[in-house]
Amino acid sequence: MAEIVRPIPEITPELKPFFEASRNGQLVVQKCDGCGALRFPPRRLCPNCLSRAASWTPVSGEGEVYSFIIMHRVYHPAFASQVPYAVATIKLKEGAKMLSNVIGIDPHQIRCGMPVKVSFEKLNDEVTLPMFRPAGG
Ligand SMILES: [Zn+2]
Repeated sequence: MAEIVRPIPEITPELKPFFEASRNGQLVVQKCDGCGALRFPPRRLCPNCLSRAASWTPVSGEGEVYSFIIMHRVYHPAFASQVPYAVATIKLKEGAKMLSNVIGIDPHQIRCGMPVKVSFEKLNDEVTLPMFRPAGG
């Protein structure tokens, strides 16, 4: 019987610093060296000031649910035991928005504006993904 393997995000050169930081339990986003705007995913050009200079900067991992959808359908057999699950855009406290998952809660209890905190979920030795859990209290 074929082993079911959960699809793992590809570590592109642009995202390498992001995954390295995640493995070490640190959430980072790209910061424009021109105007200081934070962004994720990384881009070549700052949409704000068009600067090409950027670096990675650590953020707190605190934020809130900006928008979300609940996946009920099994699009990949590796996720069969996980439906329904939530795919959410998280608005980080520092301002950048990040597409991720909200875990540790019944997806139907998720609300926009709900405070969440990053939780690093190890998928394998190479990939640890930052996901988000409801912030306590
Ligand atoms: Zn900029």
